[in-house]
Amino acid sequence: MTGNYTSTRNNEVSSTFSNAVLLGISESGGLFVPKDIHHYKISLDHLLSQSYQEMASTILKCFADDFEIEEIKQCIHSAYTNTFDTEDVVKLNSLDDIHLLELYHGPTSAFKDVALQLLPFLMKVAKRKHQIIDDFYILTATSGDTGKAALEGFKNIDGIKVICLYPNQLVSNIQEKQMLSTNGNNTYVYAVKGNFDDCQRMVKEVFNDIEFNQLCHEKHIQLTSANSINIGRLCPQVVYYFYAYIQLVKENKIKLNDEVNFVVPTGNFGNILAGYYAKCLGLPIHQLICASNKNDVLTEFIRTGTYNRNREFHKTISPSMDILVSSNVERYLYECTHHNTSRVLELMNQLSENGNYSLNTLEFDELSSLFKAYACDDMQTRKTIQKWFNQSNHIIDPHTAVALNSYHQYKEEFNDETPTVILSTASCYKFPVDVVESILGIKCSNENEAILLLKQNGMEKIPSNIENLLNDKILLPKIMKQDELKEKIIERME
Ligand SMILES: *Cc1c(COP(=O)(O)O)cnc(C)c1O
Repeated sequence: MTGNYTSTRNNEVSSTFSNAVLLGISESGGLFVPKDIHHYKISLDHLLSQSYQEMASTILKCFADDFEIEEIKQCIHSAYTNTFDTEDVVKLNSLDDIHLLELYHGPTSAFKDVALQLLPFLMKVAKRKHQIIDDFYILTATSGDTGKAALEGFKNIDGIKVICLYPNQLVSNIQEKQMLSTNGNNTYVYAVKGNFDDCQRMVKEVFNDIEFNQLCHEKHIQLTSANSINIGRLCPQVVYYFYAYIQLVKENKIKLNDEVNFVVPTGNFGNILAGYYAKCLGLPIHQLICASNKNDVLTEFIRTGTYNRNREFHKTISPSMDILVSSNVERYLYECTHHNTSRVLELMNQLSENGNYSLNTLEFDELSSLFKAYACDDMQTRKTIQKWFNQSNHIIDPHTAVALNSYHQYKEEFNDETPTVILSTASCYKFPVDVVESILGIKCSNENEAILLLKQNGMEKIPSNIENLLNDKILLPKIMKQDELKEKIIERME
């Protein structure tokens, strides 16, 4: 089957978009990438008169090579009509000269909804195209937000089951409550004894287990992923980079074709990679600024060219970024090696054998000219939330605060006056206790009390999905050991 996608680890692979979305991950452990993302260019002029949904169709068309435009439009319409509590899916909120791109107005109050509301519809069309009648089991490792967004996106869909793994005691209470309270008839949630990297590794191991996949095949089941290793997760995220840019033009903050910067709070490198793809498609981006918490493996990588996951893992107040193995870096390696897939394979083998790898000079020059990187610890994150609250009366969540802090560091270092958009990835209501402690200096023992304090202090209405949790009783998680995933999948086949 030929198409516009190949594998990061083997350029002999050729796949269509629909096939890549259905498989999630390519054979031999590689990730599906567009063979030549630079091939397409989006006309900015053209976008000026388009709604969010129309922009999404224009941009998705560059990725979904074997979808008809009508199919794309239909998916987008189904995903984005009456599911977000803003008119345009996302919202650019300019306060002084800081432009916050609020990505958390979807059903689970984190940016993952933008992609995970759409992915089920893309999969449905893809299944139809390939005339697949097998059931799909979607294995999802989550550091906190993907899980709930995937559960919401896929719940009660015929022919699909969602199995979601999160690290036990390493997600926020609200995140855990959100996942455990999902009322789908096809959703299964487990707390894994380990951290996010363990969850991600468990899922990847099952995908690569040929014997087990054969067993699934016999039972008419296909395994796939809703993590950002699935290319269908990334392309919907490219849209809001263009949207933010067009908003800035419409608000006279910039002129068409002026450059802007984006600051992205980063974990698995998916969101920021979508920004990179936007740049490849012609969006005038000056710098992409990668923001990390104390798990600063990406900061070191972007500054030195050495990726080293042999380091202490820190539990932070921005848990969705507590990641040491950022999967989507591999897709960027495909770009900075100029599509040299044997080189990518070599680097990835080094990572799995030694826990580290280093770029050569040419590769590193590309990386460091495109990205800048900063990190901050919990103390700095709290201070940033507090300072921003005092200054603007607006409350940001800890992930957004890591990004804002990184922006301040960037500005101090480079004195760059280029208009800059900060990606705001979650609602502060998802992390109420830490946020209240940051802005008011009070340590609430009760989450509900913290939520009400946020509301009293001027934050807009409580998102309805979180309001609904206020009265829920505490549910206990089902615990999974690191070697139990296959067993649990088999239990679901009955
Ligand atoms: C997932 C997540 C991130 C990190 O995004 P990546 O695409 O994994 O880099 C940042 N902030 C929040 C709130 C998230 O849920």
